[in-house]
Amino acid sequence: MGEQAWLQCIRGCEGRYSLFEALYECPRCGGLLEVAHDMAALAARSSAEWKALFDARTRTNEWPYGSGVWGKKEWVCPQVRNENIVSMYEGHTNLFWARRLGEEIGIPDVWVKLCGNSHTGSFKDLGMTVLVSVVKQMIADGAPIRAVACASTGDTSAALAAYGAAAGIRTIVFLPRNKVSTAQLIQPIANGALVLSLDTDFDGCMALVKEITRDRTIYLANSMNPLRIEGQKTVGIEIVQQFDWEVPDWIIIPVGNLGNITALGKGLLMMKELGLIDRLPKLAAAQAEKANPFYLSYLTGFRTFTPVQARPTAASAIQIGNPVSFERAVQVMRQFEGVVEQATEHELADAAARADLTGMYACPHTGVALAVLFKLVERGLIKPSDRVVVISTAHGLKFTNFKIAYHENALPEAEALRRNPPVELPADLGAVQRAIWSRLEGR
Ligand SMILES: *Cc1c(COP(=O)(O)O)cnc(C)c1O
Ligand SMILES: [Zn+2]
Repeated sequence: MGEQAWLQCIRGCEGRYSLFEALYECPRCGGLLEVAHDMAALAARSSAEWKALFDARTRTNEWPYGSGVWGKKEWVCPQVRNENIVSMYEGHTNLFWARRLGEEIGIPDVWVKLCGNSHTGSFKDLGMTVLVSVVKQMIADGAPIRAVACASTGDTSAALAAYGAAAGIRTIVFLPRNKVSTAQLIQPIANGALVLSLDTDFDGCMALVKEITRDRTIYLANSMNPLRIEGQKTVGIEIVQQFDWEVPDWIIIPVGNLGNITALGKGLLMMKELGLIDRLPKLAAAQAEKANPFYLSYLTGFRTFTPVQARPTAASAIQIGNPVSFERAVQVMRQFEGVVEQATEHELADAAARADLTGMYACPHTGVALAVLFKLVERGLIKPSDRVVVISTAHGLKFTNFKIAYHENALPEAEALRRNPPVELPADLGAVQRAIWSRLEGR
């Protein structure tokens, strides 16, 4: 019997490798790897049968299929034995109908996929469940793995530390000092990871972890490892499923290292190939202007790519100047007629605050995506009748410092036009009444 899924080079070099091998680059050309599936075997089930199976598993209590990732196990990582799966029932996150925000901008059909409503507060859980499960199986089958390591802008390390702790596997995280939020720093500390706080940026951490993981006893958990992409790709499938298998017109996603947009595209393409959908949405990648190498490359039709020195941005999880998955992401963008747009510090902060005032609690990266939504609407690219999904990548509660700084009007290069500072008063009835009445009348 042939393998159900294997690793292969994204540039098309010969060779298939096992998912259970510690291999992160094509041995022939050094390029990125991807997980490929036996699509002929998957096509043995009809599209209607797949939809019925995925619907039946949604929120089931039968381990591990209630997870949004493992409910699609055959498409994700069929060879993991269920006893090795390390899951926190990730996925099935709320698709929030942003009704008031949509009405404000004249697009009634705007939705926000709240991927941050997850165990560690970001979409990184979707990929980490797959990676850590594979590692658990490798160890169970005798591989000499002592620890799993990653470089991170904060959320990857939180997810790795939590899943590693749940599995009883040691974890090592490389973080750029003072460039992650307090919540993101304390998460891996609490989960018992070895936390290395380094005097560099994300790209510097990435270069070091690549060197360290040349020693095959330390396994690399960054998204150049294609296993994470397999879990993250369920987000696009889940969005379509949540619309009763109808494809939205647009999906807008904030991007840094470009793994997540690759994953989003991969899931949608797989659905199309297996007949679950008959068209693709348009994709918009949203970058912070302070870390915009993908945007700059887009302006050249992706003909050239130059890494940049990422500058400080409130959207710290996408402060990346040399995205690892560039080549994969370009392949995806070409198949989706994708566009790339950017947002300044002011635009992302203002967009997040605007969303909050309609009931959300947007992290700065979601702010980047929302700012891009507003721009594409203004430009007429997104039409009033379009159904639009904005991917919210993390929970706003992980970015309390950002929220506080905004409402204190202390964010660099942003003017907090929508700030709502607390009113400080003596505990005096008259003063309280005056404060309330003046404000209710002032509106
Ligand atoms: C990781 C992350 C991103 C970017 O995903 P990439 O795969 O690096 O493009 C965006 N937002 C948040 C909150 C993240 O943690
Ligand atoms: Zn190759």
